[in-house]
Amino acid sequence: MHKNRINILGTEFDNFTEKQFQKYLSDDMDARSNKFIVTANPEMVLSAQKNPKFSKVINSADYVIPDGIGIIKGAKTLGTPMHERITGFDTLMYLIKTANRKQLKVYLLGAKEEVIKASAKRIEREYPQIDLVGYHDGYFKDNQIVIDEIVQKKPNVILVALGYPKQEFFIDEYRKNIDAIWIGVGGSFDVFSGTKKRAPGIFQKLNLEWLYRLIKEPTRIGRMLAIPKYMRLIKKEKKNAEN
Ligand code: UDP
Repeated sequence: MHKNRINILGTEFDNFTEKQFQKYLSDDMDARSNKFIVTANPEMVLSAQKNPKFSKVINSADYVIPDGIGIIKGAKTLGTPMHERITGFDTLMYLIKTANRKQLKVYLLGAKEEVIKASAKRIEREYPQIDLVGYHDGYFKDNQIVIDEIVQKKPNVILVALGYPKQEFFIDEYRKNIDAIWIGVGGSFDVFSGTKKRAPGIFQKLNLEWLYRLIKEPTRIGRMLAIPKYMRLIKKEKKNAEN
């Protein structure tokens, strides 16, 4: 129905506006559809290039959204511009607000124990119409115990924060057990819980969130070197297409 996808170095992104995407999600929630959302950034695109299993899982998701200005820039450079960036964090907030409005059941999985507890507390405080059916930190050994609990609680929305590619592999393996909206949200609970701050508005406006994160967590430098590498590969791909 909305399969207008743009291929960026092998990862197929949905090309729609955030508004259109939100309408699909709202309809999915009403229909209790089984949907898998991947929010992918340049790092994940590179990782998928090296890991065919991860690539297959991403490309089999129902929605793959461009979480990162690098994806929008890459699409433009390749001559297949996309509507707009849609961040994982904004998608998480949309799902939480909509679940509250529709009075749905939500399950939180992942992050450190204190982070997930603080996230659950924030939901209970600020989104009281959500039926928060359970939560579990992301440092468990036995997947089966966790999935059995999730299935038994019958959530409509399952927010999974295990970092990539773990969260996508987890969702791909277990989504068949229960019809729900499944999304991998990376480090979003760290921000949602107030444990980590999101970049101030000015950084967001200038598309410099990455710089803010680097200042706060210099150890991320290794991960961030993925971005120039990604841009080099995009330019190479463009050259190949021209020849
Ligand atoms: N995490 C987890 N279990 C693991 C590995 C990671 O719950 O086995 C959590 C971690 O605590 C953090 C999130 O997954 O909340 C990943 O955060 P990161 O900032 O690395 O992800 P990004 O948003 O960059 O994908």
